[in-house]
Amino acid sequence: MSEVYTGTKFRTVVLSEKPLNDTGVHLLTSWGMQFAKKGLAPQTETGHAGNLSVRTNNGFLISGAGISLAELNPTSVAEVVSFFINTKKVLSHGIPEPSSEAFMHGLIYLYRPDVMAVFHGHSDLITSRAPILGFPVTEKEVPYGTIPGAKMVANILKTEDFCVIKNHGFVTVGSSVDSAGELTLQINSTLK
Ligand SMILES: [Zn+2]
Repeated sequence: MSEVYTGTKFRTVVLSEKPLNDTGVHLLTSWGMQFAKKGLAPQTETGHAGNLSVRTNNGFLISGAGISLAELNPTSVAEVVSFFINTKKVLSHGIPEPSSEAFMHGLIYLYRPDVMAVFHGHSDLITSRAPILGFPVTEKEVPYGTIPGAKMVANILKTEDFCVIKNHGFVTVGSSVDSAGELTLQINSTLK
């Protein structure tokens, strides 16, 4: 987590700027609060606090850039409907700019048709202990919000449901929002 958060590293085109009253948003709200309570998404001085997403018919709902996971609601979640790796552009609905990790979430959904939810959080306990216990970890530190970083994580998750981003945090995927959340809590409690 040595890299300072300076916002997203892509351009967002907002297609409609209105609150998203989707069931998926309410699921993310509930798990965002749980993550915050368990210390899995600590707000850093520079504002990078983790990000949660859930697949929709049109793309995926994702927490807004720089938004605390304890405060997810229809005005702080965006829906990404398209993303373009080559031109670093994201098309979205909703009020906030999508999380800086939108490409990572998008690539995981692309590679894993069975995955319905992607959770990224920060935890010193998980980052330091999980690799020792044999959980997969990226071979290098991954600068947040970059395409090579997104690809490195998404490649590991082609065959895994959980991985550590070296010296940064973790990513969990699931066939539902609840299964991604519960797997994270289960791994977290195993490490204590
Ligand atoms: Zn992060």
